[in-house]
Amino acid sequence: MRTFKLSLAMLATTAMTAPAFAESHLPIVDEPLELTIHMHWDRAQGYDENYAVEQKARELTNVHLIDATAGRNSTDPREAINLLLAQGDLPDIVGSQLLLQPVNQYGPEGAFVPLNDLVEEHAPNIKKFWEEHPGLVEAISAHDGNYYYIPYLPDGKYGRAWYVRQDWLDKLGLEQPDTVDALYDVLVAFRDQDPNGNSRKDEVPFFVRDWEEAIRLVTLWDGRSSGSDTPHDFMISEAGKVVHPYAQTTYRDGLANIAKWYQEGLIDAEIFTRGTSARDFLLGENLGGMTHDWFASTSGYNAALGDRIEGFNFIPFLPPKSVSGVRMEEHRRIPIKPDGWAISFSNEHPVETIKYFDFWFSEQGSLLSNFGVEGETWDMIDGEPVFKDEVLNSDQAVNAQLWAVGAQIKKGYPQDYRYEWQWTADAAREGIELYDSEDLLVDQFLGVAFSQEEQAVYDKYWPSIKTYMLERQQAWVLGTGDVNADWDGYVATLDKMGLEKVLDVMNTAYARQYDG
Ligand code: CA
Repeated sequence: MRTFKLSLAMLATTAMTAPAFAESHLPIVDEPLELTIHMHWDRAQGYDENYAVEQKARELTNVHLIDATAGRNSTDPREAINLLLAQGDLPDIVGSQLLLQPVNQYGPEGAFVPLNDLVEEHAPNIKKFWEEHPGLVEAISAHDGNYYYIPYLPDGKYGRAWYVRQDWLDKLGLEQPDTVDALYDVLVAFRDQDPNGNSRKDEVPFFVRDWEEAIRLVTLWDGRSSGSDTPHDFMISEAGKVVHPYAQTTYRDGLANIAKWYQEGLIDAEIFTRGTSARDFLLGENLGGMTHDWFASTSGYNAALGDRIEGFNFIPFLPPKSVSGVRMEEHRRIPIKPDGWAISFSNEHPVETIKYFDFWFSEQGSLLSNFGVEGETWDMIDGEPVFKDEVLNSDQAVNAQLWAVGAQIKKGYPQDYRYEWQWTADAAREGIELYDSEDLLVDQFLGVAFSQEEQAVYDKYWPSIKTYMLERQQAWVLGTGDVNADWDGYVATLDKMGLEKVLDVMNTAYARQYDG
């Protein structure tokens, strides 16, 4: 069996490389062509025909998108698309967050146009993108082997990183921890040696906003907490099979150690309850020593707290090596999103529409969808798109300014990380360069598309298995139960609950989808 792996060459693409493009032929149509669109995502319920990006695209392509969005009174794109499908009369283009599941369910039934041949014949830029990013077409294909949407394709490699109070390390005469043992010693020192200098044993050595990040510590013992950027997801084993990380013995060993660290006060006692304010609170009160969180937002604390807390220096460091010597950053950006747009069965201009989709993968279209209109939000300087000072220095976040003009919205287009790099803090840039100095990332499981029968098996067994896994996980961390003592019974229960049946349909779908 051929194991599906994202090619390392693709992942090695640095943040700074400009993509290569095929030729584009504009305008797409000689006379203006109006296409209706449903566009629903968390930041906007509807498509604004006055977007500067839309106006520019009309000028270049002669295709005019006309808003026909359903379910505007809900911010949930799934509700909106269900409403749209129920009304039956689909607009020419259906764009949405979380579009993958509905198109893969209703596409094979005829609601959406399969795009394989249309792309092959009329979309040279999309075709080129697929060729340069092997594995993605397989990942979006439905159970019938066709694909039915053009996805939003995020760029950039890293998401979360390890952060430590470097000033605390300095004060205690410690190095950044490079191994599990060194990490343990640092956390013990943070707990016992009063690095915040208030003569009270009040430090919280390791804390997180999302409790799943504490479970991710299992990677230090060669376990896994997820196979993708979604917590608790399935993963691909070394043998090329779909397995679940929470049924592996490395997970058991990792969790036993996490429970021990929790018991010893090295991990925040309120790990499951503190929630999203944990980082603001524990850093702001000079209590938190170490975390695992997003590069961009976590690097903002030095500027925010430097004046208030003397010496405050919270910086990224490399993931410590696991017990077997593996240095891994399990979290990363996923290369493909379930968001994007599709062509509905009632669209009378599928060729023009796929050419229009292709435009957004051309150089002109990519710049327009990533940066907005040239001369308005950005200028080309020495061959690089550079945001105007007033965009970078505005009170409003750069991405919010872009959404307002119709750039960076959840249609099908390739994101260009250069857009984000320009407003990434220096400390985060340095951290990203540090992480780039090693091969830290692991391949992601990009999901499978089920047939109806497979979906039924999954739906019947998986939700209750997952609930049981998470319930046991939390109990073990909190010390109500011992993972080593309970393990055999846990595995037997998973089996009784149908885990093997779920894995069977996952593997059947996976083999069909990725073995080609
Ligand atoms: Ca203290």
